[in-house]
Amino acid sequence: MMKKNNPLGLYIHIPFCLRKCLYCDFCSFAGMDAVTMDIYVARLCEELAQKAPLAATHTIDTVYFGGGTPTLLSPYHFERLLGTVQTHYTLSDDTEITTECNPATADADKLCALRALGINRLSIGAQSAVDDELLALGRIHTYRDTVATFRAARAAGFDNISLDVMFGIPHQTPESFSHTLDEILSLSPEHISAYSLIVEPNTPFFEAGASLPLPDEDALCDMSELLLTRLRGAGYERYEISNFARDGRRSRHNLHYWKMDDYLGFGPAAHSLIGNVRTGHSHDLDAYLKGKDITEPEETLDEMAASDEYVMLRLRLSDGVNKKDFFARFGQEFDGFYATAAEKFVAAGLLVDTPERIYFTDRGFSVSNMVLSEMLFD
Ligand code: SF4
Repeated sequence: MMKKNNPLGLYIHIPFCLRKCLYCDFCSFAGMDAVTMDIYVARLCEELAQKAPLAATHTIDTVYFGGGTPTLLSPYHFERLLGTVQTHYTLSDDTEITTECNPATADADKLCALRALGINRLSIGAQSAVDDELLALGRIHTYRDTVATFRAARAAGFDNISLDVMFGIPHQTPESFSHTLDEILSLSPEHISAYSLIVEPNTPFFEAGASLPLPDEDALCDMSELLLTRLRGAGYERYEISNFARDGRRSRHNLHYWKMDDYLGFGPAAHSLIGNVRTGHSHDLDAYLKGKDITEPEETLDEMAASDEYVMLRLRLSDGVNKKDFFARFGQEFDGFYATAAEKFVAAGLLVDTPERIYFTDRGFSVSNMVLSEMLFD
């Protein structure tokens, strides 16, 4: 019998939202009816069954429902999807099963039903505790909704909850961000993701251009410092550039991406990586609903591209690149490949280089894009 010990994460994309947020360029569509969601879930089940042979030598240790707003689906939809996963894949005993959840889209009954189905981690899109900022983002909920959803999730038995917060929001100030951090910390989630707003093309925020009242660079720096100080002060470890965990409750699913492990993605815009072969889906929801293949041409990373990507992703983690792991994966010494390119950043205090590993300092994280582009792609 074939041994199944390679861990693998499954990502299931749910591209439905009640309304599009003003900054959002994710693959999500507003205003879909229940029939469309039924058809979509049926297509996902077909795709899950069809791709199962790709995971024949793997054990699934994480399943992640992302979006979009997965909690727009009914518990029955989740039951069908998880049932299909259980039928066609081998799951580990302690599989982390996460769903993203928008406040105001999951009441106590739904959260209890999801917990009873085996979903054991929630990622709630709080973003801010200031209602004017939520309004500016075009979010559908208030902060009171976030608190109600969080409490209902705790009451339903979720003991692993992540909250997303955002900084760089229009009208936001370091003082209002400090208030958001106070509120979020008072809920005591196991995990916090904190991203700076990026104005992406093809969004209302992009079209607003210079008229968008974004915080200036000084305010953004103050917010970054506040974030680190307050979260660390409350016992959260920054284990990834934008992610913080308490008591070791890191996102095991996202660690698959940052460690460049294997993963399979389902639905429009989802990506998969098996070994050095990457595939992606287009955003064409209509075609997917009609049962058409929306897979884009696969890409096989050569050794150089794969090792550059590995270093780029691993350096997002505070643990950085473990040199023994690098050797085990690529059969080359890390130092022979990258140490010279890293030297000046080590000298500048942006990277720390030890015989075992290389990793960013806090100051290095704040300019990591510049360092990586010089180190890897020059
Ligand atoms: S809830 Fe998330 S996916 Fe949906 S529109 Fe807002 S940002 Fe986009």
